[in-house]
Amino acid sequence: MNWDEYAKWSKQIADWGAQYHKTLPERPVRAQTAQGEIAAQIPTSPPETGEDMAAILQDFDDVIMPGMTHWQHPRFFAYFPANATPPSMLAEQLVNTVAAQCMLWQTSPAATELEGVTVDWLRQALGLAEGFTGVIQDSASSATLSAVLTMRERATGYTGNKDGLSNKAHMRIYCSTEVHSSIDRACWVAGIGQANLVKIPTQGGHHSIDTKALAAAIAADLAAGHIPAGVIAITGGTGIGASDDLQSVLEVAQKYDLYTHLDAAWAGSAMICPEFRAPFWRGVDGFDSIVFNPHKWLGAQFDCSVQFLRDATPQLNTLKIQPEYLRTTGDALTNYSEWTIPLGRRFRALKIWFLMRSYGLEELRTRIRNHVRWAQELCETLRSMEGFAITSEPILSLFTFRVIGSDTDQQLLVDAINDDGRIYLTQGALLGRKVIRFQVGQFDTTRDDVMMSSDVIRQVWETLK
Ligand code: PLP
Repeated sequence: MNWDEYAKWSKQIADWGAQYHKTLPERPVRAQTAQGEIAAQIPTSPPETGEDMAAILQDFDDVIMPGMTHWQHPRFFAYFPANATPPSMLAEQLVNTVAAQCMLWQTSPAATELEGVTVDWLRQALGLAEGFTGVIQDSASSATLSAVLTMRERATGYTGNKDGLSNKAHMRIYCSTEVHSSIDRACWVAGIGQANLVKIPTQGGHHSIDTKALAAAIAADLAAGHIPAGVIAITGGTGIGASDDLQSVLEVAQKYDLYTHLDAAWAGSAMICPEFRAPFWRGVDGFDSIVFNPHKWLGAQFDCSVQFLRDATPQLNTLKIQPEYLRTTGDALTNYSEWTIPLGRRFRALKIWFLMRSYGLEELRTRIRNHVRWAQELCETLRSMEGFAITSEPILSLFTFRVIGSDTDQQLLVDAINDDGRIYLTQGALLGRKVIRFQVGQFDTTRDDVMMSSDVIRQVWETLK
């Protein structure tokens, strides 16, 4: 393909994109295909000779699109959102076109310098203290793994990477029972082990970690000869939005000199609204590492996860490696690949820059405030509906409910709602029972989109009774 053809197809795809987004509300939210249906339509062997782009795009429409779930649909209420706003998509087009690999300052100085600036814009937007620096990662899972590795290295006097982990007493990491599975996986991969991830029960309206139990667990582990390495707190857990009392967590962690990481992958975006900081983020500035995903609620196209660091040195001491082929001339250059696990890195800062400049913080705040308000309104409607019960109150824009019935009934209802296609929901668990999650966060959702959900839920349930 030559570059004139590239331009022709690019324009066609841009037009297709606008049409796709304008007609999204007419489509079922979750793909309505059965397993294997898409693969069955694709040849099992690759072509020996090149095909025409027109034919490839036609197949994209006919074969691929029916098997897509529409994450940008205004009635996407499942999981957490993965908002891709138009300005961030435009930035991604440019990034894809220039196609730089931004591992070192030298391999694209603008990418590194814009990353520093946009991370600091986000720090200010979230109200974090001056002094935090940070890095853009692909996902919260990677940021959390980086933090867990840092906990491990710090607790072993930075000898784990060098000597391995044999002959080291059990290292312990602490968190609540409500954390995301990425914390478990980080502990597996870091060689800490599931058995050494100590999960503490929660209490109170925000389902916050019981800090008395946390302190007791650390003291007991010390007495048993284990090595406490760090505490992972959460703001906005995936199941029910559980949020720890950060100040209390910090007091315990500091007493035992433990490294602290905060997973605010979803809820961090809401902290651009100052009114949410007092209930959720008291004490946040004391955390060593904080991750939040602008690719979830804020509108920066996936993937885009920001890890703030109060002091980057422990993470650099853990991850930095400098073979000769990666050395560059120049003093004290920032090479962000030294802050993370993968070497190669995309130019992710551009979409943050486009997003923040195009909307401005006030517009982004308005959307998040609307989502929180509409979730509360819908929660009240469901509370008043006969046969339904609220199982967890809204935390920001996430609440859970149950239909009166068994766990099987909850799953039947979720599956039937998603087969209906007008809205998309997923289930979670609370105190060992299945609950149905409802989160509002899609960038273009309206109050009508949210409020019509109660009718859909009631109508679908009627067909199952
Ligand atoms: N933490 C929380 C609270 C989440 O909800 C999620 C994903 O939804 C993650 C971490 C993992 O995020 P990522 O997909 O960026 O690794």
